[in-house]
Amino acid sequence: RSITVALGERSYPIYIGSGLLQNTGERCIEAGFPQRSPLLLVSDSEVAPLYLDKVAASLRGSGYTVVSHIIQAGEASKSLAVYEEVITTAIQGGLDRSSAVLALGGGVVGDLAGFVAASYMRGIGFMQIPTTILAHDSSVGGKVAVNHPLAKNMLGAFYQPSMVLYDLDTLATLPPRQVASGLAEVVKHGLILDKEFAYWCREHAGELLALDPEALGYALERGCAIKADVVCNDETEQGQRAILNLGHTIGHAIEAVGGYGVFLHGEAIAIGMAGAALLAAKLGRDRAIYEDTVSMLTALSLPVRLPAQYDEDELMEAMMHDKKFKEGRMTFIVPDSIGAVSIVGDVQASDVRGVIAQLKKEES
Ligand code: NAD
Ligand code: ZN
Repeated sequence: RSITVALGERSYPIYIGSGLLQNTGERCIEAGFPQRSPLLLVSDSEVAPLYLDKVAASLRGSGYTVVSHIIQAGEASKSLAVYEEVITTAIQGGLDRSSAVLALGGGVVGDLAGFVAASYMRGIGFMQIPTTILAHDSSVGGKVAVNHPLAKNMLGAFYQPSMVLYDLDTLATLPPRQVASGLAEVVKHGLILDKEFAYWCREHAGELLALDPEALGYALERGCAIKADVVCNDETEQGQRAILNLGHTIGHAIEAVGGYGVFLHGEAIAIGMAGAALLAAKLGRDRAIYEDTVSMLTALSLPVRLPAQYDEDELMEAMMHDKKFKEGRMTFIVPDSIGAVSIVGDVQASDVRGVIAQLKKEES
């Protein structure tokens, strides 16, 4: 299967399928990376032992020189300090203007390696080789970044890859919690733009959690296609692209207050999507949106409640620091129905506070 992200001269393919890693070398040739320039393969401490050799062997087989850099797995590696270490490897490895960076891993590796590709010598080649379900989202669309201790994704760029190579065989080794977390972004794509797909995810939740190849292949293709569509229409988020942030305003606050890694990204945004649906009810939308959203997330083994120890003031404070807070008003992505959302720019802080309180209740 392949999907095209249509961005004029910077258009690129997303290949989704089985057995793709062993052909990475040929794909690099197809992407136009010259063999005379070294490639930098970035991966993490969990993914590298499983898949790095296969990728590196394919690259060498196609005549490339490969320099690799393995980061410690986890969000903490999306930092300026680690960024600098990767750049050091790139310089020492002799990467030049025609070189490319290959990101083999989840969203952490993709975001970090992408920012290296965007900034090394003012930008070199870039390929995404995602290995998590969540990375169906992060590898498409060109947002790359590292975190600052005070704010997530604060230093970054819009930098599209030349190709996304998504080998679904790699997903077999994902821990179950990471599977569910990734599925949160998959169902998000249905919730914002495709009602039938959202209900399909609920219906096939068991197969998705069990990594059934057919169900998973379809879900990731659909998720990538929806993401690609939104990105093509608004690459740099002047407007509509913001709908992809459904659940993220509250979700990012949960991640910031709880500490990264307490809730995985997808888990935090699942609670955030439940919150957005509660907000919708407050703003007069049908309450059935909330009930359906919760049933979809619950079917996918995702949390929809906020543990009592999360402090409302701290969460509100975190949202004020969020990039989505502008001129005294909060911007929220609010569902209008399943499969349709609005960007609401003047949400009252008191309503958001009310939603957070409701998310903490046993039944709301
Ligand atoms: P991750 O990269 O940390 O991967 C999750 C964990 O799974 C890690 O421990 C990793 O080592 C391990 N892992 C990865 N692939 C594996 C495999 N095939 N088998 C076994 N273990 C494997 O996290 P993630 O959930 O993929 O991504 C989260 C990051 O993505 C966050 O930093 C988030 O900000 C970012 N993100 C970016 C965008 C974007 O548009 N750029 C969108 C969404 C999320
Ligand atoms: Zn996300």
